[in-house]
Amino acid sequence: MPAMTLDREAEIAALGRALAVERRARYTDFRGKRTVFSDFMRRTAEKLCKRYPTDTRWSTIRGLYRQYPNTDVASRIAIVRRTEELLSPPSEQVESPAQGHTRVAVPGTPDIPGQGHTRVALSSQPGMTDIPPQRDRGSQPLSAARPNTDNRGASPLHTGQTSKSGGREPAKPPPSADPDTVEVKFLKGVGPKMAELLARVDVHTVGDLLHHYPRQHLDFQNRLRIKEIEPGEDVTIIGNIRSVGAFQSKKGNVSIVNIVINDGTGSLTISKFIGGKSNKYLLDRYKDSYPKGARVLASGRAELDSYSNKLQLRNAEVELIGGDGDEDSDSIHAGRLVPVYPLTEGLSLRYLRGIIHTALEQYSPVLKDFMPESILSRYELIELTNALRGIHFPDDIDSKEESRRRLVFNELFAAQLHLAIRRHRFQASTEALALPLGTSELLEKFRENLPFTLTGAQERVFKEIASDLEAPRPMHRLVQGDVGSGKTVVAAMSALVAIQNGYQVAVMAPTEILAEQHYRQFQRWMTPLGLKCALLLGKQGIKERRRVQQDLINGQVHVAVGTHALIQDDVEFMKLGFVIIDEQHRFGVKQRARLKAKGVNPELLTMTATPIPRTLALSLHGDLDVSEIDELPPGRKPIDTRLFSPGKKKELWGFIRQQILRGRQIYIVFPLIEESETLSAKAATAEYEKLAVEFNDRTVGLMHGKLKPQEKDEVMEKFRNREYDILVSTTVIEVGVDVPNATVMIIENADRFGLAQLHQLRGRVGRGAEQSYCFLVSDSRSEQTRQRLGIMCQTNDGFVIAEKDLELRGPGEFLGVRQSGMPDLVLADIVRDAQVLEQARQAAIEVVKADPELTHYPDLKRLLNKKQQNETVDLIGSG
Ligand code: ADP
Ligand code: MG
Repeated sequence: MPAMTLDREAEIAALGRALAVERRARYTDFRGKRTVFSDFMRRTAEKLCKRYPTDTRWSTIRGLYRQYPNTDVASRIAIVRRTEELLSPPSEQVESPAQGHTRVAVPGTPDIPGQGHTRVALSSQPGMTDIPPQRDRGSQPLSAARPNTDNRGASPLHTGQTSKSGGREPAKPPPSADPDTVEVKFLKGVGPKMAELLARVDVHTVGDLLHHYPRQHLDFQNRLRIKEIEPGEDVTIIGNIRSVGAFQSKKGNVSIVNIVINDGTGSLTISKFIGGKSNKYLLDRYKDSYPKGARVLASGRAELDSYSNKLQLRNAEVELIGGDGDEDSDSIHAGRLVPVYPLTEGLSLRYLRGIIHTALEQYSPVLKDFMPESILSRYELIELTNALRGIHFPDDIDSKEESRRRLVFNELFAAQLHLAIRRHRFQASTEALALPLGTSELLEKFRENLPFTLTGAQERVFKEIASDLEAPRPMHRLVQGDVGSGKTVVAAMSALVAIQNGYQVAVMAPTEILAEQHYRQFQRWMTPLGLKCALLLGKQGIKERRRVQQDLINGQVHVAVGTHALIQDDVEFMKLGFVIIDEQHRFGVKQRARLKAKGVNPELLTMTATPIPRTLALSLHGDLDVSEIDELPPGRKPIDTRLFSPGKKKELWGFIRQQILRGRQIYIVFPLIEESETLSAKAATAEYEKLAVEFNDRTVGLMHGKLKPQEKDEVMEKFRNREYDILVSTTVIEVGVDVPNATVMIIENADRFGLAQLHQLRGRVGRGAEQSYCFLVSDSRSEQTRQRLGIMCQTNDGFVIAEKDLELRGPGEFLGVRQSGMPDLVLADIVRDAQVLEQARQAAIEVVKADPELTHYPDLKRLLNKKQQNETVDLIGSG
């Protein structure tokens, strides 16, 4: 063919003319009626592909024109425009191979799987007959061949007509701007439509895009084989398409495409669901986008199909890779380590890779690194630009790790700097109360009345608190102690110090049951000392509530115990000087702050029985002092813990009877079902009814979250008074409940609980000197679950359990949703990155020590301000 001998410029000119003709013909090439144009484009691109294998434009154009005949007009307009772009500024294009694969966003373009990738070409026709003959200026740039030559200001290929009809928006700002402030729609290859999709994965700015980290990298030399896949795993595989079927669901509102993939070791099916009605034509199109034999990369969660019992990936991401030669030319999609990103419907991996690559190319020269040079060199951290490049497109595992370390450091450092500054300001504040122990008359009486003596750990922690209270700095201390270690008594003693100094005390607990229990306990301790306690619950009657409020504001009440009801606006104190928060991890930063705000700089004591591993404590409470009650009261025996399958539960009944005969009491607990207190209440009620029959000679109580507060009180009170032998309950009794006579805890569906939660629950028994037992009932056969529950049988040590739990579940779940103090860590994993956390903390402390106002670190200051904007209430600042 003569075209083979033409040089590239001539070839480009010919393509340009073809584009112009097509545009005049109003993109009429459709459904194979006029395939000549797309054929010409495709074949010319193919030739150029072979001739210039490093120039990825050609494989892109080839791909675009494969799909051209089969797309709607809007897409065809987009394709023509995209091609013009690709052809116009050659230098830029060669540098960014990624752009070759960006999907062109056009309003109204349907989301077709595989669109923008390779598609099977329709029958090709020889030659290009209706493209006008080539003009003589073969080596002229394309603009010379443009029909509308008066439009000089515009980019070479853009005529006024297309910039309107293409619908592609808006003027790009120069890439000198801070990527965090540039909306992602301005990035090349994005546009408003795709920006909407990106917003769904929380990418709004170019900066967000740069920090949209890969979920994983596919190591092409180290991939998973189908036969090795276990159900439940998130996997990525590479294989060839064996067969494809597309059909419409019976209801007609969704189409299903089944793709069978084989990798030589086995095969699996991927089902993709495409919303909306479809006809035969559309179904064929879906099918066509997964050509038989093509090599694909698929990732998703492996499951066993319930009918066929065969492996499948549901709604997996499927990407066509290479298979037709362009694989090697394109290193961002087929390098050794290829990034895989969190996606959403309509965003393809290939597309994301492309735009992230573009963003890196364009913005890394202007990226601002907030980290001071001195810290970079001290902690041997690589530059931010390199780290971002390396987290997305690493050369090897080492460079990926190095990059990750740098970015993890950034995240942790930002959080730690925040904490370090808070702590600094807080310690420098001079308006704090000073509450000396003084004559400690009340305390002495209190100790005399106690039926036991404090453990060494309790004494030590009390001393630490007392010295905080005495100092003219506000106290901000967390007391950690395993379940049953006796935190309440230490809190009560601390409260007495404040009362002796003429202040009121507020004690907040996360549940009504616990608040109620604390109230009773404090009353028992305080009344003999001539002090008055009050209880505040959300569902109290107006009359009662008014009375309590009156007493609080008049200063009649010394200790107010309550739930969140305490932080309501209408609750006022005469002179609140000390705030105690039990099970503090159940509260958010804001709630703590609101309670504190009811006094003037009150002292703050928080307590938790969820032993927080040191790494986590550091990242959460870097601004707190921490005390530990690391000793249990004497005579406690470890709780004998065993696994039981539901079938053998009956065997337990005999054992329970024995215990009841000895005067002991029993808990039977049901997990929260599907986050619904109603369902859990139902399950507990059903079991209660069965047990009431089984133990009709005994008394059985029922407790769940659907009971009225008063009913809950009554049930708890009866259990405490031994009027019930057995208490069937949901997890409402999880925290803090203290009935030392109960010695057996049966936990149903134990596999649904986290370890820390199981430990909390188990902590309801073993509170006295009697041997106690815990039975974990579970029918799970999963090896992992049995191992997890096995840990409970092996140890009673809350710290060991918490470490394990954290390891198994990660910090987010470990702490539960309510832990709003959790810094927003994206990449950092405080278990795995414990060492980096320690370093980041050190670095932050050093910076703040040397320059508390950050006068020499304007960038850090800006970073902090940004962070603070996100936080509505500053815990310390509100005191
Ligand atoms: P937690 O730390 O789980 O909140 P509590 O404060 O509820 O523990 O105490 C658990 C039980 O241990 C309570 O019944 C309490 O009276 C008892 N207790 C606390 N300190 C001691 C001690 N030093 N000696 C004996 N029993 C104690
Ligand atoms: Mg407690």
